[in-house]
Amino acid sequence: MLPFKIVYHDRYDLNLGSHIFPAQKYRLVRQRLLATGAAAEDDFLAPCPARDEDVLLVHEAGWVKRLRTGTLGYLELLKLELPYSRQMVEGFWLAAGGTLLASQLALAHGAGVNLGGGFHHAFAGHGEGFCAIHDVAVAVRVLQREGRLRRVLIVDCDVHQGNGTAAIFTGDEDVFTFSIHQRDNYPYEKPHSRLDVNLEDGTGDEEYLRKLDEAMARAVDLSRPELVQYVAGADPYERDQLGGLNVTLAGLRARDRLVMQWARRAAAPAVVTLAGGYAEDTADTVAIHCATVEELVEIASMPASGTK
Ligand SMILES: [Zn+2]
Repeated sequence: MLPFKIVYHDRYDLNLGSHIFPAQKYRLVRQRLLATGAAAEDDFLAPCPARDEDVLLVHEAGWVKRLRTGTLGYLELLKLELPYSRQMVEGFWLAAGGTLLASQLALAHGAGVNLGGGFHHAFAGHGEGFCAIHDVAVAVRVLQREGRLRRVLIVDCDVHQGNGTAAIFTGDEDVFTFSIHQRDNYPYEKPHSRLDVNLEDGTGDEEYLRKLDEAMARAVDLSRPELVQYVAGADPYERDQLGGLNVTLAGLRARDRLVMQWARRAAAPAVVTLAGGYAEDTADTVAIHCATVEELVEIASMPASGTK
């Protein structure tokens, strides 16, 4: 039995067919965790969809209504880059409920993971880059409203800058947004996070991990987090179709460990969301996400002094 539950729902699969976004990966990650013995059936917990009143803590009422009623404009759909369906909308509401549940569990058990979410390109009033609802932001706002915490550090290691996250939390002293990403890649307009690390094309393991470590030291020091939200995109991978960095599988595992060790040092529970991943071979994306979960399990199983 794992030291925490893994949050997952079958309907995370948006059923997009041959779309570049492999939404079947969520199911495949679960299958692989079971097949390798990293997790058992009773380690998984299914979330409820987020409540609209929770989603509205982050998103504009018009955007929520147009998603709910299938009345998005042509340009809105173009920006979102997903075909509209009820199932797609349901998937985003479930992902937001899932990240909230994983965050609540993390506060109780020290670590949590949603095998979905990390939709960091969603803005308050529009969606883009396969992201309609910002699940991480919704979870943060709900926990703050409930008085469960105040200060949060969002660590975004997806290869694409967390533009929605940066925009949503601009001017918010309590939520520190940190993004490490490829500079010359989507999104071409990058609203400022509190801390952005822009990487050159082709950045490899050594430089990536050094810059991440330096930035984490700074981010933790400045934010003094009560919770770390880790957006663990698999797309800095050297064989990713939408990424241009050269981070290896081993480098990504080291990245995960580094982020979680920093959270541990800060005595802050860590919540993992999966975010992007578009490897030529989806099995690689699935393996990267599974490694992230394995690292989280390992760190969460250590005694508190184990990482000092
Ligand atoms: Zn990405």
